[in-house]
Amino acid sequence: MKKPTPYLRFSALLVASSCMSFTLACNAETPEEELEPWQQAQKTEVWEPVPPVITAKPGQPPSDAIVLFDGNDLSEWESANDGGKAPWTVDADGAMTVAPGTGGIRTKRSFCDVQLHLEWRSPAEIRGEGQGRGNSGVFFQERYEVQVLDSYENETHPNGQAASVYKQSIPLVNASRPPGEWQTYDIIYMAPRYSETGGLIKQGTVTVLHNGVLVQNHFKIQGTTEWIGPPQVEPHGCAPLYLQDHGDKVSFRNIWIREIEEL
Ligand code: MG
Repeated sequence: MKKPTPYLRFSALLVASSCMSFTLACNAETPEEELEPWQQAQKTEVWEPVPPVITAKPGQPPSDAIVLFDGNDLSEWESANDGGKAPWTVDADGAMTVAPGTGGIRTKRSFCDVQLHLEWRSPAEIRGEGQGRGNSGVFFQERYEVQVLDSYENETHPNGQAASVYKQSIPLVNASRPPGEWQTYDIIYMAPRYSETGGLIKQGTVTVLHNGVLVQNHFKIQGTTEWIGPPQVEPHGCAPLYLQDHGDKVSFRNIWIREIEEL
C-alpha cells in the first residue's frame, strides 16, 4: 500500500491529537464505514522497525556481507585438520582450488543462520565418474553438506548429485553446467535449535538456488550428512563453514555470507 501523502499524515495526527485532548471520537471508535479510505488503510500500516539500509550493487557482495574470499587470499580460512594455515591454492584468476590430499578448509569464524553466495567450478578435464568426478562440498556448521559435484551428464545416485543435501534430499532439477564452467550456489541456511538438555527443538532448513534455479526448497535437515549410515542428531552451537577436499581440483571464488538476524 502506498504511503500517505504528508498532508494526509498531518491530518491523521490532528485526528489522533483531538482524540487525546478532548476525548472526541477517534479512529478506534468511529464506525468503520464513516472512516475515510486513507484512515481505514492506516489501520494496517506498520511503521516500525525500519529495516537497515544496505547497498547491493550488481555483481558485488551486499554491503552487510562478510566477504570470505575475494580472490586475494585465504585469510578467512584455516586448515580443518589442524587449525593451521589453509593449504589450498590461490590462483591468478581469482579462484581458490582444492589441494588434493591436504584436507578440507573451514572459516575462522562461526556462523548460525546465514545467506551464502559462492561460485564453484569442477575441472574442465573430466576424470573419473559418478562421485569421483569433481567432488567437493559445502558443509554448514561443519556437519550438513550441500554437495558439489560435476553432475553434467554424469550418472550417480541423485541424493548425492550436485546441490543435493547429501544422502538426504535430491535436488528438484539438475541445473548443472558443463565441467570447467563457473556455477553459483545461493543458499539460505537456518540452523537447528536445541534445548538446554540437548533435545532437538527445531530442525535446520536449507534452501538452495543452483545457477539461479531453485533446487532445495526449505528442506528440513535430518541430521549430519553421513557417507555411511543414517543422519545423526547432535546438539551444537554456531560453527564454521567447511569446504571439502574430496581429492578433486574443484575451484571456488566470490564467496560471501550474511548473518540472518531478526529485525
Ligand atoms: Mg562432497
